[in-house]
Amino acid sequence: MDKFKVLLADDDATARYLMQAALEKAGFNAMLACDGEEAIRLFEENPADMVMLDVEMPFKDGYEVCSYLRKKVGNELPIIMVTGMDDTESIDRAFDVGATFFIAKPINWGLIHYRILYLKRTYLNQLELKVANARNKAIFSAIPDAIFILNSDGKVIDTCNTFAHSDHVSWFKSKRGDALNQSLPEEIVKIYLGAINKARTDSTTEHFEYQLKLNEQENRHYECRTVVIDSHEALCLVRDITERKDSESRIFRLAYFDDLTGLPNRQSFMERLKREIKRAKFTNTKLAILFLDLDGFKSINDTMGHNTGDVILQWAAERIKNSIRASDSVSRGHATELDIELARLGGDEFTVAIPNLPYVEDALILAHRIREAMRLPFQLENRDVVLTASIGIALYPDDGEDVETLVKHADTAMHHAKNEGRDNCQFYSEALTNQAEKRLTLENDLRNAMLQNEFQLVYQPLFDVASNSIQSVEALIRWQHPKQGFISPLEFIPLAEENGLIIPIGEWVLRTACTEAVQWHRSGRCLRVAVNLSPIQFKNPALVESVLNILAETDLPPNKLTLEITEGALMEYSAETLETLKTLRDHKIRIALDDFGTGYSSMSYLKQLPIHTIKVDQIFIRTMLDQKDSISIVRAIISLSKNLGFTLTAEGIETLEQAQALKFLGCETLQGYYFSKPINGREILAFCEKQWSIQAVEPIEK
Ligand code: C2E
Ligand code: MG
Ligand code: MG
Repeated sequence: MDKFKVLLADDDATARYLMQAALEKAGFNAMLACDGEEAIRLFEENPADMVMLDVEMPFKDGYEVCSYLRKKVGNELPIIMVTGMDDTESIDRAFDVGATFFIAKPINWGLIHYRILYLKRTYLNQLELKVANARNKAIFSAIPDAIFILNSDGKVIDTCNTFAHSDHVSWFKSKRGDALNQSLPEEIVKIYLGAINKARTDSTTEHFEYQLKLNEQENRHYECRTVVIDSHEALCLVRDITERKDSESRIFRLAYFDDLTGLPNRQSFMERLKREIKRAKFTNTKLAILFLDLDGFKSINDTMGHNTGDVILQWAAERIKNSIRASDSVSRGHATELDIELARLGGDEFTVAIPNLPYVEDALILAHRIREAMRLPFQLENRDVVLTASIGIALYPDDGEDVETLVKHADTAMHHAKNEGRDNCQFYSEALTNQAEKRLTLENDLRNAMLQNEFQLVYQPLFDVASNSIQSVEALIRWQHPKQGFISPLEFIPLAEENGLIIPIGEWVLRTACTEAVQWHRSGRCLRVAVNLSPIQFKNPALVESVLNILAETDLPPNKLTLEITEGALMEYSAETLETLKTLRDHKIRIALDDFGTGYSSMSYLKQLPIHTIKVDQIFIRTMLDQKDSISIVRAIISLSKNLGFTLTAEGIETLEQAQALKFLGCETLQGYYFSKPINGREILAFCEKQWSIQAVEPIEK
């Protein structure tokens, strides 16, 4: 390495030589000049690392040389002026012209080389610092982040790269001393301070992302890393990652969505289905997968070209989407539009997943809706194209418990639909297709039944033990289906409950029964009429109003009406249930608990409710006389309900022995085929004339 060069200018030869000796002793290379001009000339020929100038010299004095060199080489060169002792004026002037330091005469020649060594070290440190600063500056300006230092109160103490602020992180306009919340919303400032805190306690580099709405159109994403400097300060590097986020979402779209239709693709569908299966398993619910294939799509592609094919696929996707949307719920209020996932598997194949499926027919309803939507002609520029769809349906867990099996089975069902003549929907299980189709047809017919007057009421007389006569009747609905003949209420009432038709049907029953009862009253037979209420009707908030309106409309005295409800309606005890029952009681309407013993209600629960009558279910009566223990159950029910103040009706009495035994046991009202099957309203008056003689006979315990 070259020796450190010191240029020494002094017109005093002795001083020059003594200084030269001192410099060489310290290991420097000394260059000597005897006046100012020579000093400048020597420096220009061979620039020194340090310059020592005597103040007074011929031609050019030390000040002139110093000021010349400063202008020429800048601030770093250490220039030492050798001044007279106590000559403060010279010292001041030396600094004015840019001297780095001064040495006062007389010089201690023994120590001068130390002095010079220290000056050299300071000079080198300064050089290093300058390089380090330049490097830092270069690094900062190469980083495309806004870099700033925050204190723990969220104040900006310093900003490191003003270059980045305006170009890269558009919100960052903070200056030294600004609080961060002048340019950022409070909740984001909180995130900053939280991260700094964590970085400080955990000695980590914290990393977080946030979004900023810069204006109506511009929403940008940022990423911040923060490192703690000391107990007060932290360095924050903020980068605008909007483009990365945008491309991530573009990549996500490419990976998970179909380019042509914008629908989720196979990958996305399979992943979603996997999650839905897990959920269905956990919640113990059903899930349906519809697999749809357009019939004859290939020939459209072949004859009209792929561009037309693409357009038709887009339209088809739109139609399926609208069909799903049209189902604010699939049909009866469970799976919502948001839950249903539609995807394009590829080609002309689409899939739909319906989670949380309450009834399997709902899958069929949606499939038919899609199929219908597809049948409308697609209007191309020069002609209309008619396409149909074949749809296969597989159910979780019935047809498979994993994604692959379910999709495969839905696909198989779709091929089956194609074999059935296309434009068709099929379940994977054939029996299910028939059953669901049947139910759907029945549901449709049920809607028509009201309009077509296909319902009628029959009445089953109830024998009153005390008066030995018929005092009341129970109204029972009948449906005479135009093709299928008589359909049992046990079959169509549950269906009407599912689709809500029970409300208008129930009102019709009540109105008809009340009207007919009033006619009997007018003919001199003051019968009470009992009408069955479904739990759905009972829970309907408009029930009381509707009952009272019908009573007023038909003129039936409320105390001549009994409403029969099943235990199911009272299952969940609620303030509303109690309120409804009380209001009905206050209007003198009687309440009977139907089919008692088949549900789970306990007597102690029932005693809290304003119920008048308990109807013991037929099942106990049927077996009463020939099965062990049955008689004791009936006996227990009768005595318990009497104790609680209920009157008792026994249902399903088919023999005289049953009637005699129940009379013996203290049952107040008897109902069953032994007395009469349900009969037409017109036959009631004549029936009531019939005389009865039922003896009380003690049943024999088996
Ligand atoms: P329920 O209210 O318990 O009616 C008694 C059922 O038992 C009636 O059947 C009746 O015909 C039958 N039955 C009566 N005595 C005997 C007997 O001695 N032996 C046998 N084996 N059966 C007997 P139905 O008319 O088929 O009605 C069945 C159920 O349908 C009714 O049970 C009731 O829960 C419901 N239902 C009938 N009509 C209506 C209605 O208008 N509205 C509502 N919500 N439900 C109704
Ligand atoms: Mg009943
Ligand atoms: Mg019953």
